[in-house]
Formats: sequence, C-alpha cells, structure tokens
Amino acid sequence: MKKISILIPCYNEEQSLPQLYPELVKLMDGNTGYEWELMFVNDGSIDGTLQVLKNMRLQDNRVNYLDLSRNFGKEAAMLAGFDHVTGDCMIIIDADMQHPPTLIPEMIKWWELGYDDVYAKRKSRGRESWLRKHLSLLFYKILQSSSRFDLLQNVGDFRLLDRCCINALKRMRESERYTKGLYCWIGFKKKDIEFVQGDRVGGVSSWNYRQLFSFALDGITSFTNVPLRISTVIGFLVSLFAFLYMVYVFIKALIWGDPVQGYPTLVILILFLGGIQLLSIGIIGEYIGRIYNETKNRPDYIVREFNNEKVL
Ligand code: UDP
Ligand code: MG
Repeated sequence: MKKISILIPCYNEEQSLPQLYPELVKLMDGNTGYEWELMFVNDGSIDGTLQVLKNMRLQDNRVNYLDLSRNFGKEAAMLAGFDHVTGDCMIIIDADMQHPPTLIPEMIKWWELGYDDVYAKRKSRGRESWLRKHLSLLFYKILQSSSRFDLLQNVGDFRLLDRCCINALKRMRESERYTKGLYCWIGFKKKDIEFVQGDRVGGVSSWNYRQLFSFALDGITSFTNVPLRISTVIGFLVSLFAFLYMVYVFIKALIWGDPVQGYPTLVILILFLGGIQLLSIGIIGEYIGRIYNETKNRPDYIVREFNNEKVL
C-alpha cells in the first residue's frame, strides 16, 4: 500500500487546527486505499498549538508532530518536515485553511498518472492590499527575467511532491532558503491545478512588509547574480560618462581658461557618485552576508521533541 504524508507547518495555529484536522480526517477516511501520515511541525508557537497537537496524537496515531526549539520560519519548518516524513509522496498544506484540503484527491489523481510535482495555482490571491499584491508581482517579474528556469507566479507551497522531489529538496541545505524557487530548480514532471485561495480562518498572517521584503531579497540573492551584474554595468556607464566629461572639461579649460565655476555640478556629481557607490556596496554586502551565513554551516532547525520523545 502506498503511503501519503501530509506536512503542515504551524505557527500559532491553535484556532485553525481544530478546523483543519476534521477535514483531513474526512480525507483520510475517504481514501482508505492509502496509508496516511500527518506531520505537523510546531515552529516555536507561543500559543497552545503544541498542546492541541499532543491531544490529537493521543487520539489518532496517524498524527505525528515535530516541535522545534524556537520559531525558525516556515522555510526551515518545512525542511524539518521533509527530513521526517516517510511517505511515498508528501502534500504540503498551510494550517490556516487557506489551502482547501478538498483539492488533495485531485493532486493524488495526477500523481498516480505519473506526475512528480502537482502544484496548486491560485486563481485569485484572496483578500490582500493593493500595494502588497503589486509588490509581489514586481518581485516575480525581477526574478523571472533574471533566472534561467521558470519561476512560477501565484504558486505557493500547496503541492504534492513525489519521493524523488522530497529527496532532491533534502539535499539542498542552504540556510537562506527560498523553497518556492527550489521547487522549480529541481525540475521533474510538473502539473498545475487551479484553486481559489480563501481567507485565514483564525489567528493572523505572520508576514509583515519587512519580512516580505527580506524574503524577496532571499529569493533574488539565492537565485540570481543579476543585481551584481547591474551594478557592474552602472559602474561602467558612469565611468564612461566621467571620462567623456573629463575630456570636455580639460579641453574647455585649455581653450577658454578656467575661472572658478561649477559648484553646483560638483555637488551633484559627488552626491550622485556617492549614492551609486553606496548602492553597489550594499548589493555586494547582501551577497557577502549570505556567504557569511552559509559558511557558518549551522543546522537549519533544531528539534526539541518528536512525537512525545525528547530529541537529544
Ligand atoms: N508558518 C510557520 N512558521 C512561521 C510562519 C508561518 O510554520 O514562522 C506557517 C503557518 O502556521 C501557516 C503557514 O506557515 O501554516 C503559512 O503562514 P501564513 O498563513 O502566516 O502565511 P500567508 O498565508 O499569509 O502567506
Ligand atoms: Mg495563510
């Protein structure tokens, strides 16, 4: 019998879990041709999520949970899940019911037809502010135009991955994870299905603009060197312009002499060049910071407890 794992990263989801779990039970009981495993990853929640998970495990041995030692972020929580699921395939789903579990049977259908990565594509993006929506579209444009493989837009983590994809993802231990890009990077046979994303049932989305910005930077820096290339090109253009201007100033001084003049030009040039230099250094810094984090080679997450057992 094939085994299917469902991976649910949870951060402060005590209100959502009691709604999600019955849906999953309905799904599992309706598809008894498979062996099922639920893998909840408690990503350092500060509410009663862990207790909810413990209670669920007491009643249902299909429920497994990993308790991380603090909040490591969804990307790391998912990696922890990848490392611990045992199924022939895995479905990743958010705990907040924004991903309808009713879509799962269709994913399984495509998996049985031989697809390795069946991902759900949002038809609409749910309730979201205008600014946030357009910033995220801009981000995808930048990323897409600068990388060699297809980075999919409006596609989140809600997907079914075959064992071969799970194993491929497990091999990527980078600490600045941008899993949405990694799914595309690994390749394999992909199939998209559409769904309408609902709104959160309880709690609040844990993303604010600052986090989204740094997530976007992670995405860009981990998949493309284009910002570095752009600063090289800008540097080249500015030098070229400076050289031409130098020749002009020199000749002008030779022919007409040089009464002291040009204070505004000077100030503008200094500020402009200073700005460009700082920008370029900043871009280099973003990459160096990531190299620094990567070389520390720390584990991506620490597990405190796995199914009632302390991990030492
Ligand atoms: N999540 C997590 N760790 C975090 C933040 C979020 O495991 O640090 C989980 C969260 O519990 C949910 C999923 O990731 O199951 C998506 O989070 P959220 O709904 O906040 O993000 P959004 O839907 O707004 O993208
Ligand atoms: Mg959500």
